[in-house]
Amino acid sequence: MSSIYEKYEPVIGLEVHAQMKTKTKAFCGCPADFHAPPNSNVCPVCLGHPGVLPVLNKELIDFAIRMGLATKCSIRENTLFARKNYFYPDLSKGYQITQFETPLCYDGLVNIRLKDRSVKRIGITRIHIEEDAGKSIHDFSDDDTLVDFNRCGVPLIEIVSEPDMNSSDEAHRYLYKIRQILVYLGINDGNLEEGSMRCDANISVRLKGDSKLGTRTEIKNLNSFKNVVDAIEAEIKRQADLIEAGEKVSYHTMTYNAKDKTTSHTRSKEEAHDYRYFPEPDLVRLHVSSEQIEKVREILPEPPDERSERFIFQYSLTETEAEEITSEKPLADFFESIVDQLKKKDDKTFKTSANIFRVDVKRVLNEEKIDISTFHLSPAVLANLADSVSEGTISASASREVFTELLAAKDASEQSKLFGELENKYRQVSGESEIEEIVKSVLSENKDEVERYKSGEKKLAGFFVGKVMQASKGKANPKIVNELLIKNLEVKL
Ligand SMILES: [Zn+2]
Repeated sequence: MSSIYEKYEPVIGLEVHAQMKTKTKAFCGCPADFHAPPNSNVCPVCLGHPGVLPVLNKELIDFAIRMGLATKCSIRENTLFARKNYFYPDLSKGYQITQFETPLCYDGLVNIRLKDRSVKRIGITRIHIEEDAGKSIHDFSDDDTLVDFNRCGVPLIEIVSEPDMNSSDEAHRYLYKIRQILVYLGINDGNLEEGSMRCDANISVRLKGDSKLGTRTEIKNLNSFKNVVDAIEAEIKRQADLIEAGEKVSYHTMTYNAKDKTTSHTRSKEEAHDYRYFPEPDLVRLHVSSEQIEKVREILPEPPDERSERFIFQYSLTETEAEEITSEKPLADFFESIVDQLKKKDDKTFKTSANIFRVDVKRVLNEEKIDISTFHLSPAVLANLADSVSEGTISASASREVFTELLAAKDASEQSKLFGELENKYRQVSGESEIEEIVKSVLSENKDEVERYKSGEKKLAGFFVGKVMQASKGKANPKIVNELLIKNLEVKL
């Protein structure tokens, strides 16, 4: 951004709506899967027929408590549900059931890692339960709008942050962290593009150093990381331009137009919302006992930050290694399944496993654009490889070759058989006499370089090591190669 924007500080809070992976909807027995054919997962309750009564889904309460515990929230023992009026055709009963004054979880926090590796704490104001609306489809016909009610009553939690973020990058990192926690807890599939997570961003700007907040605007329905970043950037610029022009920012809900990367006011009809919350008369007060909270805590899947810290402690990984491996739950699970099958459970072998995983496995995932669930080498054969490297049977450089050749083997038993053959083929040569023979032949074949080395070009040492390793097909033990090279070159000096 050019200099006029540098004197402004953006203040950003996010509201994330996450769909819960419960089997059934929030207040009826319909399946919560909205991928089914249109209007097939519906019943009188979620269609809002007269005389029906909602019944709260217990699994949904437990899932919301999971998120509350993982983000260090307080859990409220007594909560009321509220109706929020909703005047659009995609929710036939005309209101959403939500929580208003008494959200189930409140006063939490998450830590995000910033670009400079420092940690910033972002407050969580509240997490409450609500139900989703359906979907209006406008693009089948010019004259008609079609409605799919499958999504009506699908359970959501809304996670509202404090306005603690000061750049689009921080908002991106926060959203990534929320998604990571949700997926780790097994309560959301993390798929923004399919709408199982959506985000509203509240943004204001103020002059740096000011303590008073500027007037905020709210951008609705951002459904990808890229749109969150681009929309926030565009809105910061729009607000700063207004202030620079001597005008005032006024409260509006905004939409983001990805095509031209701008934000604009929603049409006034859509903006004139009057939710008129009132207590939901069809549901009794929800009481969550401390025993229920403790039960959820006992089975709470390990959240990502805790897992990363455990990896540092248990496997002696660096912070960067641990964060990279635990960035996604399936990656962390795969890595742990390698280390579980190691014969030698010591720091050196853990480190070797981490190297194989971070360098070789990740390279294949990137090159083939696949995720770990479709990676075909078994954790068992990678554990064998790590054991062999750690014991010195295979050198670290030959392990790259072994890994690459292993990729040709299909199933686990074929991989294990091939590994046996490769281990013999690449067995590290540590016998001094064998290596010395190779060293001598390399020196006699490269007389010019030997002369140059003798006359002071010591950096040629690397050249000789390379030649010897090449001649031994990567099998020579590099430590012994170094010792023998120095010995033979010194003799000739
Ligand atoms: Zn239903």
